[in-house]
Amino acid sequence: MAKIFCVANQKGGVGKTTTTVNLAAGLAKVGQRVLMVDLDPQGNATMGSGVDKRQLELTIYDVLLEAASVAEARVKSDRLIEAGCGYDILGANRELTGAEVEMVAMERRERRLKEALTEVEKDYDFILIDCPPSLSMLTLNGLCCAHGVIVPMQCEYFALEGLTDLVNTIKQVHANLNKDLAIIGLLRVMFDPRITLQQQVSEQLKAHFADKVFNTVIPRNVRLAEAPSYGVPGVVFDPLAKGAQAYVAFAQEMVARIETL
Ligand code: ADP
Ligand code: MG
Repeated sequence: MAKIFCVANQKGGVGKTTTTVNLAAGLAKVGQRVLMVDLDPQGNATMGSGVDKRQLELTIYDVLLEAASVAEARVKSDRLIEAGCGYDILGANRELTGAEVEMVAMERRERRLKEALTEVEKDYDFILIDCPPSLSMLTLNGLCCAHGVIVPMQCEYFALEGLTDLVNTIKQVHANLNKDLAIIGLLRVMFDPRITLQQQVSEQLKAHFADKVFNTVIPRNVRLAEAPSYGVPGVVFDPLAKGAQAYVAFAQEMVARIETL
């Protein structure tokens, strides 16, 4: 049975999508069966996995509205398979923006994704969900089906402050909707060890959240930022780059960690 993780942080531009696609590729590289779910209408994780969001016949939108099953809507990317990092993709595009409104009147609307994924859980070791930069109904759907939340964050002055809202939301979802949910870990991303402030915030994080902080640190690395324009995760684009190697190490840390869950 798959372990399901949301990559969430209500701030934009903090590395959610980069983390989702590179963790998916890294896990695939070490032999795990992975489904990547794009829950963001921007469709960056879809494009960044080599799938053209404008060409998709079925997306997560159809799944949430029960017009298609996950098995019907998931796709593969040949380039990822050729690179030995193949994972399945449940894509998104701007159609998904409408889902929020259309779901308002529906029953059990926060459980739509959970119910849809039940059918494919046996096909995967990991299901990774790339959340939009908000604490919306879409993110709530992700949190309702997850065993854990991975929170990518930059070690900046306001980082801890922003965490409070997310932690409170997770607590509420845990209490009311999903007893399995926990923060599995905080992932330090875009890290530059030469910046003293980043080191200080990193130390604060460890002091405050202890073993909830992943051991792996993702460095700032331009190859990770270049990769999406080639339609592949950094792990595939330049496997020897520091950022790519860090994400493969993170995949290994995740594999080790789920054994203790
Ligand atoms: P989010 O999904 O949270 O909005 P993204 O993953 O899209 O964030 O990242 C925001 C920007 O930062 C993107 O341009 C991405 O390429 C870049 N980026 C992410 N992680 C790194 C990194 N470790 N090093 C350099 N650039 C990064
Ligand atoms: Mg994103």
